[in-house]
Amino acid sequence: MQQLIRALQEVLGPGGVLTGDAARSRSGSWGVMHCDAPAVLRPRSTGEVAAALRLCHAAGQAVVTEGGKTGLVSGARASSSEIALSLERMHAIEQIDARGRTMTVQAGATLQAVHEAAEAEGLIMPLDLGARGTATIGGNIATNAGGNQVIRYGMMREQVLGLEVVLADGTVMSSLNQVLKNNTGYDLKQLFIGSEGTLGVITRAVLRLRPLMPARNSALVATDSLEHLVALLTFIERELGGRMSAFEAMWNTYYRIASRGPHLGQPPIADTYPFYVLIESAGADLEGEAGHFLDALARATELGLVQDAVLAQSEKERAAFWAIRDNIESLAVLWPLAIFDISLPLATMADYLERTGARLEQRLGELRWVTFGHLGDSNLHLAIALGGDDPALRHAVEEIVYAGLAGIGGSVSAEHGIGLEKREFLHCSRSATEIELMKTLKRALDPRNILNPERIFRL
Ligand SMILES: Cc1cc2nc3c(=O)[nH]c(=O)nc-3n(C[C@H](O)[C@H](O)[C@H](O)COP(=O)(O)OP(=O)(O)OC[C@H]3O[C@@H](n4cnc5c(N)ncnc54)[C@H](O)[C@@H]3O)c2cc1C
Repeated sequence: MQQLIRALQEVLGPGGVLTGDAARSRSGSWGVMHCDAPAVLRPRSTGEVAAALRLCHAAGQAVVTEGGKTGLVSGARASSSEIALSLERMHAIEQIDARGRTMTVQAGATLQAVHEAAEAEGLIMPLDLGARGTATIGGNIATNAGGNQVIRYGMMREQVLGLEVVLADGTVMSSLNQVLKNNTGYDLKQLFIGSEGTLGVITRAVLRLRPLMPARNSALVATDSLEHLVALLTFIERELGGRMSAFEAMWNTYYRIASRGPHLGQPPIADTYPFYVLIESAGADLEGEAGHFLDALARATELGLVQDAVLAQSEKERAAFWAIRDNIESLAVLWPLAIFDISLPLATMADYLERTGARLEQRLGELRWVTFGHLGDSNLHLAIALGGDDPALRHAVEEIVYAGLAGIGGSVSAEHGIGLEKREFLHCSRSATEIELMKTLKRALDPRNILNPERIFRL
């Protein structure tokens, strides 16, 4: 390995390779994703990524790609036998074509930097998530991230027009397509979107931008049952005629914890209601949009679907609503905990939660769990307090949560991916034939199995 590291230092130049403590002291979100790699590569260009991978491929050296390390399934966590490759020095926003509504960026650009650059042109790149300040576009693409506006704009896959990818042997596949329609053979970029770094290193992307909708309305709403919460989703979606941009649900268990914190003021609504939801609409009509939004909420209240509601009167109040929704760190009070990112058909949700809750209670004795998520996308997050660091208990809890999904068309990962943590449960959501085809693709593109080995599945 030392010989390889010296060769990599030569190719990547000063500052291009971190070793020893400089490599190991880097941490990820919640501090859990520390890096055990003996070396972290920090290329500055696609050419340098290609040169580094050529060397690693020749040596049969495993390489783990790092974006912002905010991923929640340990995909970017390198072990002591792996070399990490960080895109942190490749963060340029290279070009914005306001007329064609595209942005060309390097993969290490943060999501927030992309948002700010798009907004300066009166446009948006609509993928959004709580880790926006640190998560990178490369990581968002590699995980096919979801987030807060999927209901209106789709997942990351929908925002990508073109990609540049370096393959395991250093071959550069430049497919920086800029147009919406391009049916010329296989759409190769799709292979890499959501492949969690196992098929290639994404170095640049062409993103699709949308018009910035100036009339944005936000409300924090309380309701009294899951049935009413789901009915509210259908009702508001219809009333707003496609302009609903977020429907973020929080069970009382989540709201009670997440609405308090040193950076938050008084909770906008009392924490005594069973369910809360952050609803947003975004439209072009500055005068009319607020009226439509208010009317829709008023009608929902008349129908008994809303028990209490607060409208954001300013950007500051809107940010305060989102601060509650994004206050995932507050769940640390439940530590050690198991966090789940599942999806399931809306019609099965109440029954699934009741059955799973009963089984968890039986196994854990006392059940302390919180539920929240992107209800409009049938995506729930569960955080379950384990009460101790017992791997067998964690595993038992995982089995209970995932077992209930298999028969109802649910998924063990709605948006975070599989990484190292859900590998064992991939079969709950994918057939043996599907998994075998994934392995065939992996073998074809990375025959020496050097890119993020063991992530998603074992070969
Ligand atoms: C507070 C918080 C809120 C979050 N909310 C959401 C949410 O709402 N929706 C959601 O989907 N996720 C969410 N996440 C998870 C996370 O932010 C996303 O998965 C994000 O897309 C990861 O980006 P990253 O740059 O941090 O990637 P990393 O964590 O560094 O990497 C993630 C995976 O992608 C691979 N990878 C990274 N960059 C590249 C590249 N250039 N080429 C190839 N492979 C690469 C890594 O090897 C790893 O397997 C949240 C995380 C936090 C901490």
